[in-house]
Amino acid sequence: MRVVREDQLIKKNEKIAVAVSGGKDSLTLAFLLRNLQERYPFDMEAIIVDEGIEDYRNHTIEAAKAQLEKLDISYHIESFKDNFGKTLDFFVEKNKENACATCGVLRRYVLNKKARELSCTKLATGHNLDDEDQSVLMNLMRGDIIRFSRGQNYYKKISDKFVERIKPLRYFLEKEIVIFALNNKICFDSSECPYAEYAMRGEVGKFLDKMEDLRPTTKYSLLSGYDKILPTLNQYFIPESIGVCEICGEPTMDGTCMRCKILKK
Ligand code: SF4
Repeated sequence: MRVVREDQLIKKNEKIAVAVSGGKDSLTLAFLLRNLQERYPFDMEAIIVDEGIEDYRNHTIEAAKAQLEKLDISYHIESFKDNFGKTLDFFVEKNKENACATCGVLRRYVLNKKARELSCTKLATGHNLDDEDQSVLMNLMRGDIIRFSRGQNYYKKISDKFVERIKPLRYFLEKEIVIFALNNKICFDSSECPYAEYAMRGEVGKFLDKMEDLRPTTKYSLLSGYDKILPTLNQYFIPESIGVCEICGEPTMDGTCMRCKILKK
């Protein structure tokens, strides 16, 4: 894990929370960090989020638990039901097109809160190069310049209530991660979330795959170009600090945070 050491993503003796879903990316990340721990001292605990997606998340959680136990990594399961009183299936019953947006907001909240409770200094996620490129293009195509300008460490910069996020796999292609996981006998769950078909991400992903086929290294160039303009974007579009939500007290740019807006609805 040269990236972790050279980019100083993890400092000696830090405590890292790893978000694990049971898929190839997060379990590969857990596997790599566990190996790194043998040569470099830091603490690690895993957080599994159970959004409450029937006939899907229960399978991936089983895969996550089995692999984490094999790696001897302790884990915590946090559910939407316990945190918000309802499952994701309930929240999006009448509006499945909104599933990923709702899921993203609530999951980020749960991960951040649990990582903070565990006194973790960083929250590591398994986002790969394909995920990162898709997010860059989606934010641009939606004209969402604020989100486009945030980058991975925006949250930590504007409020101490956010645990700093790290994405050690963000320069690795999804394909490379699959090959690595198979070669290292990492048992992951490859089923697809039933809400994925409603997401814009899938279409953007297909477009990027086509461009990569036509012009190899497109995916890498897109992300490295984005990383170069990010400091300038930060300067122009991101405030130095933000307020707190009038309902829950968590940081937000508006008077009410997205999580509370969803729960209120
Ligand atoms: S595909 Fe969408 S709804 Fe399903 S787990 Fe991912 S973000 Fe959540």
